[in-house]
Amino acid sequence: MKITYSIIAPIYNEIDNLPELHRRVKEVMDSAGEPWELILVDDGSTDGSTEKIRELARLDKTVRPVIFARNFGHQVAITAGWDYARGDAIIIIDADLQDPPEVILDLARKWKEGFEVVYAVRGEREGESWFKKFTAAVFYRLIHWITDVKIPVDTGDFRLMDRKVVNVLRQMKERHRFPRGMSAWVGFRQVGVEYKRAARVAGVTKYPFNKMLKLALNAITSFSYFPLQVATYFGFISAGVAILAIPLVIYMRIMGSGAFFGQATTLIAVLFLGGVQLISLGILGEYIGRLYDEAKGRPLYIVSEAPDEK
Ligand code: UDP
Ligand code: MG
Repeated sequence: MKITYSIIAPIYNEIDNLPELHRRVKEVMDSAGEPWELILVDDGSTDGSTEKIRELARLDKTVRPVIFARNFGHQVAITAGWDYARGDAIIIIDADLQDPPEVILDLARKWKEGFEVVYAVRGEREGESWFKKFTAAVFYRLIHWITDVKIPVDTGDFRLMDRKVVNVLRQMKERHRFPRGMSAWVGFRQVGVEYKRAARVAGVTKYPFNKMLKLALNAITSFSYFPLQVATYFGFISAGVAILAIPLVIYMRIMGSGAFFGQATTLIAVLFLGGVQLISLGILGEYIGRLYDEAKGRPLYIVSEAPDEK
């Protein structure tokens, strides 16, 4: 059967959200009146979500489970969804219902108008701590400012993409992935639709601060050399300061000033430069580690159970 809409939901310990997710997606998609499928990618859940997904798939043939051998991360789960989706339009949605399934219809409307990427923009956010909102706001703006690709701000992974776009994305095999950036990078006709991001229905966020930081690093390193350039700028600045300071200090000494006697000045200069050098090395290391990961060429994910037909 020809499928129009593939809805992909990555699942990591979302047992209490699954029945509600299935119910609401079904309600919305049945009202759209075109064939659809719901791909539930189990990203190594340990709370029984896996069994729940199997059960949903047994009861409803529109549900197609992809079960990972372990936790590979949200971005990789989305990627697996792309690989298994058969629809003409592919929609990524969070399993915790923070992205209301009803919005899919708005996205689909824009797709029918001819847009190939319709991303959902978070107008308001409900039920999240100020810390989460603040770090998210900084994150989106930083990424927008630093990266070479203009990734829309306040936009998560909730979006609809045309088959054409997903076919291109499937050829992008990078390991440290940032799907929002990737889908901005490919081009095509893109448009945003504003929505109100709801609170989680059940459970807690799977994105603590350290994971957010990792995601930010992936986003920045995948889409820009800015951190490497910062090291270069710092080098020029400190060399420039030194060149200016040398004649100045010699002059002050000749004039009998004691301003630059003592160890403190030397110590501060050494510590400062040492610090800058170590940070630069660390930045280089981030890029080299990523190169190493790419060179290994391991599979992006391992499935333990998946539908036969890709
Ligand atoms: N998720 C996943 N693997 C992970 C972490 C999260 O598949 O390692 C899924 C999670 O189940 C949810 C989505 O990614 O469907 C977004 O996660 P979450 O709601 O915790 O993030 P937040 O909305 O708090 O940023
Ligand atoms: Mg969430």
